[in-house]
Amino acid sequence: MAPSASQVFARISTPEPPGPPRILMRRAVVLGGSMAGLMAARVLSDHAEEVLIVERDPTEGAGPRPGVPQGTQVHALLPAGQTQLERWFPGFTLEAVAAGAPDFGRNDGQVFINDELRQVPDPARERPMLITTRPFLESQVRRRVLAIDNVRMAFGRAEGLLFGEDGVRGARYVPDGEEEAVDVEAGLVVDAMGRSSRLNDWLEEHGWPRAPMQRMPIKLNYASALYERDESVSDAWASIAQITPGEGRVARIGGVLGVEGDRWLMLVAGYDEDRPSRDADEYAARCREHFPKVFGDIAERGRMIGGVITYHQADSRRRDFHAVDRLPAGLVAAGDAVASFNPVYGQGMTSAMLHASCLSAWLQTGPDVAEEPAQAYFDRVRVIVDAAWQVSTFADLGLPHITEGHPPGYKVIRWASELLLRASMTDEPTCRRLNSVTAMEAHPSSLAKPGVVLRALRLRLLGRI
Ligand SMILES: Cc1cc2nc3c(=O)[nH]c(=O)nc-3n(C[C@H](O)[C@H](O)[C@H](O)COP(=O)(O)OP(=O)(O)OC[C@H]3O[C@@H](n4cnc5c(N)ncnc54)[C@H](O)[C@@H]3O)c2cc1C
Repeated sequence: MAPSASQVFARISTPEPPGPPRILMRRAVVLGGSMAGLMAARVLSDHAEEVLIVERDPTEGAGPRPGVPQGTQVHALLPAGQTQLERWFPGFTLEAVAAGAPDFGRNDGQVFINDELRQVPDPARERPMLITTRPFLESQVRRRVLAIDNVRMAFGRAEGLLFGEDGVRGARYVPDGEEEAVDVEAGLVVDAMGRSSRLNDWLEEHGWPRAPMQRMPIKLNYASALYERDESVSDAWASIAQITPGEGRVARIGGVLGVEGDRWLMLVAGYDEDRPSRDADEYAARCREHFPKVFGDIAERGRMIGGVITYHQADSRRRDFHAVDRLPAGLVAAGDAVASFNPVYGQGMTSAMLHASCLSAWLQTGPDVAEEPAQAYFDRVRVIVDAAWQVSTFADLGLPHITEGHPPGYKVIRWASELLLRASMTDEPTCRRLNSVTAMEAHPSSLAKPGVVLRALRLRLLGRI
């Protein structure tokens, strides 16, 4: 019997060390050297004699870079992502702390839902959470990957794929500062070029079908600013505030994270016409008027470093490679190139890491990568994408500007979700279950068990929630 989605999910998200290296090809080429590309390269270093990462953006260091423009915004690493980082790079968290990541020695952040503080502490974890800026985290992953003997990075712009009769035989790129394109042969090419990847166009140009794309128009507006951390202003180190739509409320999200360099990175976000601007006074007013006290305190009494930086994401999108009936061999895609979600749920980097574990699980079966299409890889990726998509797009169906795509039974599922969220504010078992799904540690089907909803319902009938 085929394993269920939740069984596949559990296998992929395991913290267990990966299997032993098994060389299946001479060279693998990874297009895009951000989170998904770096993670894929780490996996491939166990299965190829040589791994070449081709990255368009030559910026070095631990600061924001143009190739990843969203890197200026708050990036929370979900616990499942941290588990995968430890799985692929043992000792990662301690090394990141030694390199400057804050070591708060605490596991409990503050969560506010509709201005009310959740009373249940975040379930205790075995290690402190890793809270940093996105560029810092990526630089740590890059350092570990490029320290592997058979991995190297070349700066240049990928321009296309090389095709043989049944599949991909390599990739073409223009090295940074040059005009002539270079062809590199490879047993496997990974598309990790992010949400704007042109892979579908490249496939179509060579007579292969495009992967169908689904989009949800979220119209999300972010604004983030850095502040000097100052205990006299606040002792906050991880505060998340969510305002859910309905009953006259406007959906918004905010976050304060204590990050490396003794700074806070603070985010406020809205949807559709609710757009924070780059104006510092408007930003401070938003923090004070729409979010819990800590946001206003930091905005008004903290010292801002640089200015407010805004970012707009029009949609969540997924490319369903698993559904393509004719895939070329020698090709996979990972990270945002497959699916990019509403970032308020913090699923993107963790998904990229789980895709890497899907790649490992597939390669451990010893496929003939140059001859067999990677269907078995994409079937695993589908499970991870479905899980993240289900959580984020279901929540977004409640946004007033999203007027279509509501599944049958939507109202009942929404009622149950709101009940669970309400119960999670004070009931530890419910909070634990809900968090394990939003942290991508458990498959969403674990919330659909009757006992979970019945427990919350009983609490409501007893007047405890
Ligand atoms: C505002 C915002 C906030 C977010 N917050 C979070 C969060 O809190 N937590 C979280 O986990 N995720 C978050 N995300 C999502 C996260 O940023 C992405 O999921 C993650 O960066 C995906 O990594 P990736 O490697 O697939 O793609 P990207 O990080 O987008 O990287 C793509 C890479 O490909 C390179 N590239 C592109 N084209 C070419 C080419 N032709 N040739 C060579 N190289 C190329 C680019 O330079 C870049 O390095 C957020 C996203 C946004 C927009």
